[in-house]
Amino acid sequence: MLEILGIIALFSALKKKLARKGRGKGLAFLAPVFWIGGEVIGAVLGATLLAMQSEGQPVSTAAVYVGAILGALAGAAASLAVIYLVPPILHACPECGEEFTLNLEKTSRRHTCRRCKTTLRVEDNAVVIVPDMKKRAVSGPFGA
Ligand SMILES: [Zn+2]
Repeated sequence: MLEILGIIALFSALKKKLARKGRGKGLAFLAPVFWIGGEVIGAVLGATLLAMQSEGQPVSTAAVYVGAILGALAGAAASLAVIYLVPPILHACPECGEEFTLNLEKTSRRHTCRRCKTTLRVEDNAVVIVPDMKKRAVSGPFGA
């Protein structure tokens, strides 16, 4: 039970880091895969090493358990390292070329360019300039 909570916590931590890089949650599934994979490898390694040392005597289950826990921790650390190394998705401002990453944690797909202050909206494969209503009103037929 505790382990499931740990995997869920790791999964949501990875999902958050991915969202800040403008990426979907797909790679967050490394959390359960690496955790459980590391656990199995750790248990097998622990049992194997112990069996080699104990020369025919029964292997202690506690040592296998310690191997499994260490393996799970290594797997969790590896999944964090992979997500850390994944590059962020960069978009470019169509006005000035300034690059930015859209934080998917926010529900809005809007972004204000840091350099030229243009309001942008990130669509599936394009960055679109959001028309400035105030500017349009001033330059319209009734503007000064
Ligand atoms: Zn810009």
